[in-house]
Amino acid sequence: MPSEAGDGFRRRAAALLRSAANDLKRDDDNAERDLGLEPGSFADYTSGRRPVDWGLIRRAAEVWPLNERDLLPVHDDCPRGLSVMRAKESRSSSRVLARGGEGYYEYRDTAMSRIASYRPEWIRMLRVVGDNDPDNPLVQWNRGHLLYQFTYFVGPVNYYYRWQGRSYCAPMETGDSVWGLPFAPHSFTARSDSEPAYILALTYGGSLVGDAQRELAVLGRQAAHGLALPVADGPSSLAAALRSFMAAQAVTPAELAARTGLASARIRQLTGEDTEDTGGSAVESELGVLAQGLGVSVRDLLPPRSGTHHGVAIQHGRDARSWFLPDEDTPAYRLTRLAGDPLHPHTSALQVDVLTPAARSDAQLVTYQHQYLYVLGDQPVEVGWEHSGERGTELLEPGDSAYVEPQVPVTFSTGGGGQHPRVLLLRIAGAVTPEVRYALGTMAEGGINRYIAEDQLWYSKEGSDRRA
Ligand code: FE
Repeated sequence: MPSEAGDGFRRRAAALLRSAANDLKRDDDNAERDLGLEPGSFADYTSGRRPVDWGLIRRAAEVWPLNERDLLPVHDDCPRGLSVMRAKESRSSSRVLARGGEGYYEYRDTAMSRIASYRPEWIRMLRVVGDNDPDNPLVQWNRGHLLYQFTYFVGPVNYYYRWQGRSYCAPMETGDSVWGLPFAPHSFTARSDSEPAYILALTYGGSLVGDAQRELAVLGRQAAHGLALPVADGPSSLAAALRSFMAAQAVTPAELAARTGLASARIRQLTGEDTEDTGGSAVESELGVLAQGLGVSVRDLLPPRSGTHHGVAIQHGRDARSWFLPDEDTPAYRLTRLAGDPLHPHTSALQVDVLTPAARSDAQLVTYQHQYLYVLGDQPVEVGWEHSGERGTELLEPGDSAYVEPQVPVTFSTGGGGQHPRVLLLRIAGAVTPEVRYALGTMAEGGINRYIAEDQLWYSKEGSDRRA
């Protein structure tokens, strides 16, 4: 088994084993019989007294309908709530990757954590071009990659992107940013070799990596294509959502018409069956009765929106929106909104200019998202945070980066220097999607604590549990 300092990993493995046995309705005796364990030993595993080892996990995956990974907890590599990667460590991870036999990029790792899906790299452009032609033969394209990519530009960098066979070039400057969709080919070059030209390529998988990818890999290509929902302007997105729920519930247009009071012809329009006339998007009152009729929430029928153009959302620094926090009269930070897309409402990219000399309680930043930060510019910044009742501070130098857990409050200050440090923040959602958050919010009393660390059988051996 992978090791980890402390016994947190062992305790989380113990809880997963108990949770899995509960799900399969196995008490200790049954579990011991299934897993070939000596009588009385299952409780040792589920209490953490004995480590859950590979042999036990392999055996469980053989005899129970579950996967090895279902019994494997994740590692906590951020026990203080915030972990730092120093610029020096980043530099020591430097490697040059060649394209067409010549060095094209220098890569350096920045702060990553096993808790979040970030794979953020500092990347220097080694190829210099003299024009903004997307078909310049000096440009070496990649094949695109799975991870979403938020990119922050520093210096004269050309950004190339390809969508549906057409190539584009956007000349970028310091402060510009872009958000791009998975698997779209792209490239970067420098327009000058006399000034720094690099990017922060903050890639992340979000909910695309992990369970969904593994499930679809088993279901196969045809199923994966069938499960893809369109995100398009107009009625086709609503039609796809409606058809999907109707299929799930085996509801016919006639039955939905009867449930909603809408005309069958209108149902056929809304579901895109009537190709003559798509009928426009549903009016609000129709959404309400459709949701009622299908027993879902209105939000489940509403497709997301995307502002991407040719697969990317570009935000130039010159027309980015800026504001002050907590207010303009006594500002602690000046915030600037960077590239993003409504398709990912739980991703926020911000540039933070730190104005306050000392940490201020009215300028605490706290969010449900995972946070990545990188110190831009040439000024150090002091970061303060709170975790498990303890306060921490670190002085971060330019080029240092950090990962911050969700719900950990963070403050920034200049540490007394007259200059204003600048921090890049990229906040993303993890596996705890809104669906999971609503589930947490509706669990029966005591449920949340048992969900994260199940330590008991789902019933009392002694008989009915009468505790209040
Ligand atoms: Fe990339």
